[in-house]
Amino acid sequence: MKLLEVKNVNSFYGDFQALFNVSLDLYEGEILGIIGPNGAGKTTLLNTIFGFIRPRSGEIRFLDKRIDGLQPHEIAKLGIRYIRETLSVFPELTVLENLKIGAYENWDNFREMLDLVYTYFPVLKERKDQRAGTLSGGERKMLGIAQALMGKPKLLLIDELSLGLAPIIVDRLLSAIKELNEHEKLTVLMVEQQITKLLKCVRRAYLMEVGKIVMKGESSELLKNPYVRQKYLGL
Ligand code: ATP
Repeated sequence: MKLLEVKNVNSFYGDFQALFNVSLDLYEGEILGIIGPNGAGKTTLLNTIFGFIRPRSGEIRFLDKRIDGLQPHEIAKLGIRYIRETLSVFPELTVLENLKIGAYENWDNFREMLDLVYTYFPVLKERKDQRAGTLSGGERKMLGIAQALMGKPKLLLIDELSLGLAPIIVDRLLSAIKELNEHEKLTVLMVEQQITKLLKCVRRAYLMEVGKIVMKGESSELLKNPYVRQKYLGL
C-alpha cells in the first residue's frame, strides 16, 4: 500500500527555488533512501513533507490524505515522526523522561514500546535515569530514534543519521534501523550523505541533485550505476 506520495512539489526560500517538481512514492513497510550531495535539497524535502516548509505548488499525500498545508504537529498526529540532523532530545531530562515525551500521543502502547526500544537499544535501559546531556553523541542519537519510536510511528523520517558520528556507531545505528524495518515493519524515509552505507541499508533510493530527482532505482542497481559510481563513490 502506498503510504506517502509526493507529487510535483516545488519549494522555495523566498525567491530561491530549492525543490523542482519533486515526486516520490513510498510504500508501507519499506526503507527508502534519498541520496545526493551537499545542498541538493534533501533536508528541504523532508522539511516540506513534515510541514516546516509549505510547498508553493504540488501535492503531498499520506495515507491518501492531503498533508501539504498542515502544520508539523498535525502531521505528527497522523503518525509521522521526524528525526532531524540537530538533536531532538532534551539534555536536562533523563533518558526515561525523554522517552516519555516521545510517547505523548501514544500512552496506550507505552510499556510495549518501552520494551521494544530497550530491546533494540539496551544501553538506554542501563542509562534510563541518566540526564540525556551526559550521553555520548551516538547514545544521544539512539535516544532520538528511540524517542521517535515511542510514538509508534507509521512513518519515520530521518535526516543524516551519520552526522558527527564515528563510522562504527553509524553502522550500528543503520543496522538497528534495518532490523526495525525487517522485524517490526517500521517504514522509513532516510536522507544520507554516506551513500554507500545508505544504499547497503535500503532497498530503493532516489538521487537528488540541485533540487531535482535525477535518478531512482533499486539500491543494488544504483551501486552498480556508472554515473553514481564515478560521481559519488569515487570508483
Ligand atoms: P545538506 O546535506 O548539506 O544538508 P541538503 O541536500 O539537505 O544538503 P538543503 O539543506 O535542503 O540541502 O538545501 C538545499 C538548498 O537550499 C541549498 O542551496 C541551500 O543553500 C538552500 N537553503 C537551505 N536552507 C535555506 C534557508 N533557510 N534559506 C535559504 N536557502 C536555504
